[in-house]
Amino acid sequence: MPELPEVETIARELQAVMPTSRIIGLEIRLPKMIKLPVNRFRRNVVGATVGRVHRRAKLLLIDISTGQTIIIHLKMSGQLIWRSVTGRLRVGGHPIPGGTEALPNAYSHVIVATNRGTLFFNDQRQFGFVKMIPTASLEHWLEDEGYGPEPLSDEFTLDVFEEILRRHRVKRIKPTLMDQTVIAGIGNIYADEALFYAKIRPTRRIHTLRPDERKNLWKGIRHVMTLAIKYKGTTADAYRTANGQPGGMLPFLRAYGRDGLPCKRCGTIMKKITLAGRGTHYCPGCQQ
Ligand SMILES: [Zn+2]
Repeated sequence: MPELPEVETIARELQAVMPTSRIIGLEIRLPKMIKLPVNRFRRNVVGATVGRVHRRAKLLLIDISTGQTIIIHLKMSGQLIWRSVTGRLRVGGHPIPGGTEALPNAYSHVIVATNRGTLFFNDQRQFGFVKMIPTASLEHWLEDEGYGPEPLSDEFTLDVFEEILRRHRVKRIKPTLMDQTVIAGIGNIYADEALFYAKIRPTRRIHTLRPDERKNLWKGIRHVMTLAIKYKGTTADAYRTANGQPGGMLPFLRAYGRDGLPCKRCGTIMKKITLAGRGTHYCPGCQQ
């Protein structure tokens, strides 16, 4: 599933092409992907102008001129393709074999046509979804959904992080980092990376973390997220940026996927274990 940096990358690339385009058509081929009455969705979307394309947690947000925000979650297999009227493609999310050759295809469930190009929401396994919330109540809705703070926001201070850790002190650190109600946008890859940065073993109980470890972890979360956005995300599970390119973060990963390889910091052979059902990578030498 794309994590914060991958969705941020798609949002930035769509933000470069979609704003000010006018929505002239909407085709819903699989109504169950739309989590609101289809007629209400259509009434608000067709004829609207696209405002800002942005992101919160792992959600892609498209503000439109009717005062609504379209919310798209790509989940396990979603893909967004923007095809401009000149035929230029921008592909984001999971690639679908042959998915860009003929559009729409069998997995194109929602198609938004504008005067400047068309957005195809494709999803092979149909776990993704589209919602719509009034833009004015978006923050409130996100709060109700229980999303935690954005790790790169000014609000995510060390004090806020310490408070989060106090609330979850009996839990293990890695699954807590991945809990979207604790911090928004961290998934399996960047949890492993942030813990490697802070030299903390993923299985540690939170109450055993020393103050310097907690501070390094806070810095590590912000560091790996910033780096991953800079390199347009990680291509794992075949994610692609909205330009259809693999993300450039892979060479910069220091933990995820490196089991059996020497640690880039101390040379110890890296290990992989399963923790809370997820493949977890760490160095038994320098992560204590
Ligand atoms: Zn090491």
